Amino acid sequence: MSKFWSSMAKRAEPYVPGEQIEQADLVKLNTNENPYPPSPKVLKAIEEELAGSLHLYPSPTADKLRSTIGSYYNMTADEVFVGNGSDEVLAFSFMAFFEPGKVIRFPYVTYSFYPVYAKLFDIPYEEVNLEEDFSIQAEDYFDSEGGIIIPNPNAPTSLYVGLDHIEEIVKNNPNQVVIIDEAYVDFAEQSAASLIRKYDNLLVVQTTSKSRALAGLRVGFALGNASLIDALIRMKDSFNSYTVDRLALVGAQASFEDEAYFKEITARIVSTRETVSKKMKQLEFTVLPSKANFVFVSHPRVAAEVLYTELKKENIVVRFFDKEPINNFLRITIGTDTQMEELLLTLEKIL
Ligand code: PMP
Repeated sequence: MSKFWSSMAKRAEPYVPGEQIEQADLVKLNTNENPYPPSPKVLKAIEEELAGSLHLYPSPTADKLRSTIGSYYNMTADEVFVGNGSDEVLAFSFMAFFEPGKVIRFPYVTYSFYPVYAKLFDIPYEEVNLEEDFSIQAEDYFDSEGGIIIPNPNAPTSLYVGLDHIEEIVKNNPNQVVIIDEAYVDFAEQSAASLIRKYDNLLVVQTTSKSRALAGLRVGFALGNASLIDALIRMKDSFNSYTVDRLALVGAQASFEDEAYFKEITARIVSTRETVSKKMKQLEFTVLPSKANFVFVSHPRVAAEVLYTELKKENIVVRFFDKEPINNFLRITIGTDTQMEELLLTLEKIL
């Protein structure tokens, strides 16, 4: 028995994602998926691939997609890495850039996968408390021993850190890799990708799961100096099972080629977010100034857990985190206007 349990398996504490309930009448606002379908061009590309090429292995180097993503950010293919969702890209990044024995830093609270990976790969970590208003102070991340990872916007708080502050953090960790996890950046302002040519220690990780409505396809990517990307490729090539499949490659490719559709659904979500934020404030909610495709809210009279439970009874699922200091907050994904109207009407009834 003891030989079977490697020390890595002993350290594995599985990440617990939001509930994935598949039910037709459910208003599912708990895992920050896009409420709109992907571009019709994505579906067409996948159909064509299905019809012709499934008997062939996919490109292990994903050159075409890397080059397309590269052009999108005015970069080259050798500055782009693609993987099966950004969770996988993050796992390779932890393995490639963070070391056992050197303490990395990330915020508390933040995306709860980071401590899971740190424990699994035996990387010591320090969780830096957010300020009282949940903001991130750049100085708290200067001079780390082992590296930094910060989501921008942060999850679940929805708050965005300005690029000037991100640049300060990168500048003040010259010998460590700083990972900026931009899963939600398309709903915010600028990507830190524009800083990559200036700083060879900056890795920006993004995903097609949120703004490109492709959560089911599992395509994430990293942008960085070619030497960082080369390290990720070597990590990936040390396993043979992480090649992105043909359908995912052509689907993501088509999504980047349909800029108009991407812009339209993103703008729609941002507009709904602003309307919902305003209406929730009218219901006395505290609503953090979101730059993501979700809002983080708290009510002065009714506990978040009660709201979560009551909403669920009405087939509306939102995310409740039973931990300090956010256990009186709910994270609510921005759905369609119709879904959000249903949410608001139901909340009015509960309050
Ligand atoms: N980073 C953050 C901050 C997230 O919230 C998520 C989604 N849960 C991810 C990364 C992973 O997204 P995916 O693996 O779908 O690309």
